[in-house]
Amino acid sequence: MNETLKKAAQIIKLKKEYLEILAKPQRVVMVNFPVKMDSGEIKMFSGYRVQHSNLRGPFKGGIRYHLGTDMAEVSELAFWMAIKCAVVGIPYGGGKGGITVNSKILSLKELEKITRAYTRAIADVIGPQKDIPAPDVYTDARVMSWIYEEYSKIVGKKTPAVVTGKPIKLGGSLGRDVATALGGVYVLEEIVKLQNWQSKKLSVAIQGFGNAGMNAALLLAERGFKILAVADSQAAIISKNLKEGLNVKKLIEFKKRTGSVKNFPGSKNISQKELICIQAPVDILIPAALGGLITVDDAKKINAKIILELANGPLKNGVDEILEKRKILVIPDILANAGGVTVSYFEWLQNLKNQHWSKEKVFDELKKTMDKATRDIWKTKQQYHTDLRVAAYILAIQRIIKKLKI
Ligand code: NAD
Repeated sequence: MNETLKKAAQIIKLKKEYLEILAKPQRVVMVNFPVKMDSGEIKMFSGYRVQHSNLRGPFKGGIRYHLGTDMAEVSELAFWMAIKCAVVGIPYGGGKGGITVNSKILSLKELEKITRAYTRAIADVIGPQKDIPAPDVYTDARVMSWIYEEYSKIVGKKTPAVVTGKPIKLGGSLGRDVATALGGVYVLEEIVKLQNWQSKKLSVAIQGFGNAGMNAALLLAERGFKILAVADSQAAIISKNLKEGLNVKKLIEFKKRTGSVKNFPGSKNISQKELICIQAPVDILIPAALGGLITVDDAKKINAKIILELANGPLKNGVDEILEKRKILVIPDILANAGGVTVSYFEWLQNLKNQHWSKEKVFDELKKTMDKATRDIWKTKQQYHTDLRVAAYILAIQRIIKKLKI
């Protein structure tokens, strides 16, 4: 059972039976299906969909294509989605799906066939009012458009609301591409306000310079934060000019041209560990790469005052406790990166009502949602004298349990 869930349940003295209900998925689906490959060979694939909870609304969560994907991984992620949706107060439960496959070696035709076969196999359990998949690791807007088409064929009518993260022309929402980073930035700004800090003077280090990290750097720089150091999988760099920080626009162009942030003019290459435990005065550390990259050893040396978890699960077990003791504030993933699922919810609403929101409306609604969630969690943290992660779980548990009818 998830350790934070246990801790949160203990604090609010949740009944044992309720804890069990929260921890177990409502439905677990495994499908095996054959696909004819380009070579003419017929291969069997295994896919999963775990529907953790629909107490607060339809199941919701991404679909990942990865060789390491199995039922255990998908189940844990489905649980996280249930908690995340409750934390930001959107009317969804949690789900997750995936196929055990190395998508990097597939042709586009094979990828499409596998996606359509998987959709047919899980069609009975998904739908706009049942379970709404979205992109995750190695799936994207194109994969979502195949699911949308295949599902529509099965039910006999165009049903865009069956998936989110679609291309804009097929009913995707404006602003979805930056939603995760922007949601995180809104949360950070609200926390900075609650701490009575001046955001203009704060400096930032970002680990991971892909969709989430790059957009966060750009949005923060636009708001006057100083981006001092960044890392991608190949290199970490720090600005030589500690007063001004990195020129983010130029850095993004450079990364797109060269494939890495390495050797960016005006910066110095440093090691990945130096970025995490940076010796320069950095206020905010943003993990935006993979999970589990920050260790207990790192936690003893981190200098930042705030960690904004844009990545899912970036801190290894035991790190939270050390950071709490060192008074380093961790803004947990289930709040910090919930902007993505929030705009997915807006996409679904637009599809159901046949509306098209402007980018301004999407961002405005996102800000309202993230600000409220941040204030709610802050209040819970103060009420129970706990860290933000446990506070977020307490809030989510209370919101889910409220809907329980036995
Ligand atoms: P991405 O693939 O676009 O970017 C990942 C970045 O991390 C790349 O720049 C890569 O070079 C870098 N990286 C990989 N290993 C690294 C290492 N060891 N050290 C430093 N950098 C490393 O992925 P993304 O969409 O930006 O997602 C990043 C994280 O945010 C993931 O944990 C993901 O689960 C989480 N997240 C993303 C979204 C979203 O909407 N994109 C939503 C929720 C959560």
